[in-house]
Amino acid sequence: MSWENNVRRVIPYVAGEQPKNKNVIKLNTNECPYPPAPGVEDKKRELDCGDLRLYPDTDASTLRSELARYYGVRDEQIFIGVGSDDVISMSFMTFFNGRAPILFPDVTYSFYDVWAKLYRIPYEQIPLKEDWHIDPSDYKKENGGIIFPNPNAPTGLLESLDTVESIIAANKDVVVIVDEAYIDFCGKSALPLIEKYDNLLVVQTFSKSRAMAGLRVGFAIGNEKLIKYLNDVKFSFNSYTMNRPAQVLGVEAVRDDAYFKDICGRIINTREWVKKELTRLNFSFPDSSANFIFAMHKNKPAKEIFTALREREIYVRYWNKPRIDNYLRITIGTDDEMKALINALEEISIS
Ligand SMILES: *Cc1c(COP(=O)(O)O)cnc(C)c1O
Repeated sequence: MSWENNVRRVIPYVAGEQPKNKNVIKLNTNECPYPPAPGVEDKKRELDCGDLRLYPDTDASTLRSELARYYGVRDEQIFIGVGSDDVISMSFMTFFNGRAPILFPDVTYSFYDVWAKLYRIPYEQIPLKEDWHIDPSDYKKENGGIIFPNPNAPTGLLESLDTVESIIAANKDVVVIVDEAYIDFCGKSALPLIEKYDNLLVVQTFSKSRAMAGLRVGFAIGNEKLIKYLNDVKFSFNSYTMNRPAQVLGVEAVRDDAYFKDICGRIINTREWVKKELTRLNFSFPDSSANFIFAMHKNKPAKEIFTALREREIYVRYWNKPRIDNYLRITIGTDDEMKALINALEEISIS
């Protein structure tokens, strides 16, 4: 008998690389290429270090109220976490305690199966259709809960609100989590449905569309009872999760709606011309509604392109996994970054 017999062994989620070299064109982790709202920068300068002596507000109540105002819900309908990874992890712990397997797509955010294993939650991955879309009828069987991103990652494909609603409506006796990490890049949020379905939890993040991945802010919106259960688990785990600066700076980001809409619009415009360029260069891809494109080249293996781009200091994401090992996930950067990418791709497919 060794102490190692009592270790909870897990195979961890592997995050995209964060290179130290600042000259890299970084299109591998879906961050926003633009800075956070100008008000965030101003507030950052004003932050009083003396405040760091004190514990933060356990409820992040100012940030919660600001989000409640923005999304037109009550404060009690919002749960705030340290990035949506924290929110989703807490949600798995809180809501997925049944015997039946939870369901999520086979090609999706690769953290879901890691949390399921960590918390010993039985799960079943439902294959996406040939066209990468979700078939809602696959989710009409006994289960212990459901989670899927909309738009999905890494495909970028958006499901209609009708599809989303049909899954929620068919599963009223379990919690359905819609992970809307990319909803601001062109999708219809499931948020209006929270009044109709008390089993729906909508999760969003400041990491992509609000340009604040480094701050770690995410949130969930749902029925007050769901949020209360989530808070009970959070306060049984760690009371002081979100630090003071994150709470203060998060508020400033929400207040500047014009800037938020502007950067989302810029990313959408860039995405649309990059789609045309990639098509010209013989790539095919599902029609993305997110801030990335999941692309496959007609002749050249993805791994070769990945390596050739990396040699040119352009980082994209590649997974050596069944079904997706010939695809690259390319984050939408600035116009200049994407021009550099297209030029590099032109060189690579010629050589
Ligand atoms: C990026 C991402 C998250 C996590 O983002 P946070 O930085 O933890 O807020 C969650 N779900 C999906 C689908 C993502 O792509």
